[in-house]
Amino acid sequence: MSSLRELKLDGIKRIVVKIGSSSLVHPETGGLDFVKIDRLARELCDIKNQGFDVCLVTSGAIAVGRTILGTKKQGETTAMHQACASVGQTNLMLTYQKAFADYHQTVGQILMTKLTISIDENRRNARNTFEELFKLGVIPIVNENDTVSTYEISLGDNDTLSSIVTSLIGADLLILLSDIDGLYTDDPHSNKDAKLIPVVEKLDEKYLSMARSTSGSDVGTGGMEAKMRAAKIATSSGAQMVIANGKDVAILHRIMANKFDGTIFMDNKDENFKVKEWIKEN
Ligand code: GLU
Repeated sequence: MSSLRELKLDGIKRIVVKIGSSSLVHPETGGLDFVKIDRLARELCDIKNQGFDVCLVTSGAIAVGRTILGTKKQGETTAMHQACASVGQTNLMLTYQKAFADYHQTVGQILMTKLTISIDENRRNARNTFEELFKLGVIPIVNENDTVSTYEISLGDNDTLSSIVTSLIGADLLILLSDIDGLYTDDPHSNKDAKLIPVVEKLDEKYLSMARSTSGSDVGTGGMEAKMRAAKIATSSGAQMVIANGKDVAILHRIMANKFDGTIFMDNKDENFKVKEWIKEN
């Protein structure tokens, strides 16, 4: 019998996995961690071979672009930021394509902005594309279209993007692979008594304030507040969500076996929640 501590795996068909920049690059150099990307591809292909639809949301384009172009975040203009995304995204996809090819797996790229969701026709097209890719057995690899998205149309962070994708495609589970083990009662970097919360049944103010006290890395843009935003979107859309540490991507296997440390957010479907409305209001 499954306890409340466990993910409900019965009936799960579609899974979105998000990996952050800090989990994909070597912190000392900013260069891609190829070994990890290979393992990630292996894990995802194996989950797909178990019969699930799998979608990957990946960060890393800008971080990789900066490394290739030899530029720094400090003082970066919007044009330079977007140039980094342009160079980094192709490099990232090339790396993924090669890694997935080792497991005979075809991947497709989907780049999105807020407009992909807020414009009805775009949203329908995007959903149809995802459905077609799943039907064809392809793993979609998603990122924000950072080369064209500026403040007005940017989703800002890939935690939010991955939850929006979860909602759009009706996924049952969103896994956020992060550089932190999960949601803590306080910031574990500054408070050694902070405790990992294994399960959040309902996301309320108590948990949101714990999240506000937790800092993130400075490689990506997510942070714990963004993860709570993602949890709200995913769980309101009827999906469960997990935050787990991506330093060892084999944790994906353990998650699918319900044997892992991390935080589970239980699904809490809100019939009134509409992703399109959320985008308009935020
Ligand atoms: N879309 C950004 C990138 O690929 C990352 C955003 C994030 O880290 O949340 O570089």
